[in-house]
Amino acid sequence: MTDFTDNPYYSLFAKQKAHQYAVSNSTYNQRITKLNAFQRAIEITFRDEIIIALQKDLNKPKVETEMSEIYQVIGDIKHAKKYLHKWMRNQKVKTPLALLGSSSYIKFEAKGVCLIISPWNFPFNLTFGPLVSAIAAGNTVIIKPSEMTPNSSALMKKIVETVFNEEEVALVEGEVQTSTDLLKLPFNHIFFTGSPAVGKIVMKAAAEHLSSVTLELGGKSPTIIDETANLKVAAKRIMWGKFMNAGQICISPDYALVQENIKDEFVDACKTVLKDFYGSNPKTSSSFARIVTSKHYKRLNGYLKDAEENNANFLVGNETDETSKYISPTLVSDLKDDAKLLEEEIFGPIYPILTYTTIDDAIAYVNKKERPLALYIYSNSKANTKRILNSTKAGGTCINNNIIHYANHYLPFGGINNSGIGKSNGYYGFKAFSNERAVVKQNFFGIAELLFPPYTDYKEKLAR
Ligand code: NAD
Repeated sequence: MTDFTDNPYYSLFAKQKAHQYAVSNSTYNQRITKLNAFQRAIEITFRDEIIIALQKDLNKPKVETEMSEIYQVIGDIKHAKKYLHKWMRNQKVKTPLALLGSSSYIKFEAKGVCLIISPWNFPFNLTFGPLVSAIAAGNTVIIKPSEMTPNSSALMKKIVETVFNEEEVALVEGEVQTSTDLLKLPFNHIFFTGSPAVGKIVMKAAAEHLSSVTLELGGKSPTIIDETANLKVAAKRIMWGKFMNAGQICISPDYALVQENIKDEFVDACKTVLKDFYGSNPKTSSSFARIVTSKHYKRLNGYLKDAEENNANFLVGNETDETSKYISPTLVSDLKDDAKLLEEEIFGPIYPILTYTTIDDAIAYVNKKERPLALYIYSNSKANTKRILNSTKAGGTCINNNIIHYANHYLPFGGINNSGIGKSNGYYGFKAFSNERAVVKQNFFGIAELLFPPYTDYKEKLAR
């Protein structure tokens, strides 16, 4: 038996472990009470502080905070409250003839003590969203938010401490070492949101204890725009999806694959939209966010320099300011195949525009890369849409839009392989934090008993 007593988080873990059955056996009403208290904290008590914390951390515009953080978490809570009764119920299933005399059902039981590790780009949404699922499913939870957004992390700690006891939900702040220490403990489930590189570290650590994992990762999400698309509408939706939160969204359109005969028209439409959205100097726009840290600013600036050195064509933008960590909305084309912008997940306000001749060329390009978290299609051709859907794989897809699939609580959210393992959101989030326990109840004589040893004639056995 491994001794964890030296681990700085062992005593917290042990407290939650001791308390786990009290939480997992909590009734529907008790969980609803908890969710109500959580909702009040987000919706009323701490609403203004959330807006301020995100302004400080990311210069996140108030409307974006309302829409993509507060509204989103409240939506998660409301959805869970609406369906919790149904989700918690034992689910009766059929019993085959061979098991005659018994009945069967699935008991959704909490996994136990869970760890949530979250990123910085939507700190509240991506920490509290999974937490809602974990609470709904009756787990105890330790949360480790990102060190990159310290104001948000400190406020989340305050919210958690206001609403929960630490033996049911606790939040620990810290850098990578904190995650490393936590990951040594034998959690029953680990829900990680972050980069594929760190996802691999998490999965390796989980393997040590065979903890189950949900990995919500990232990667390069393509957008395929064909010649039948409504380009004005496409440009508007893509520029919105790409430049919200300055492109720091896991399902942000990473690059465009535009049919070559419509490229100029598409680029012109994008230029017009960007001017409408952010004016002629986006730096002064209150609707445009900043890059989270100097490290990420330097990473993105490196991609721009690499493109410049390789004679890429900057169609819009490429303006930067290190002091305010500002990178203007940038459209770039004529990139070399091995350009950093085409190899790394961008996670910033730079949009490479590539062209293709046939739909099959576009599909081949996408399939050369890792399976994406999202793939977007802009087309009015049913045949093209179907062909793309059937010839690629992705965590999720929007047709003639982007990123909005995340907001549908009835859909599973997650990636595939390099972009993630497992699903979250609504019922799928509840399932991620639940063990589907198979229960068979023997009600009377079981027909299978005729096959017990000694293996003599079944008629003889029946006669006994
Ligand atoms: P990250 O992987 O660097 O960090 C995520 C979390 O892991 C943070 O809490 C961090 O402290 C911790 N961490 C970092 N290095 C670690 C290590 N070596 N060992 C253990 N823990 C470690 O990701 P990020 O920069 O915060 O976020 C950006 C990435 O997250 C992008 O790849 C993006 O696509 C992805 N993402 C995915 C989703 C999704 O829902 N699929 C949502 C948001 C972001």
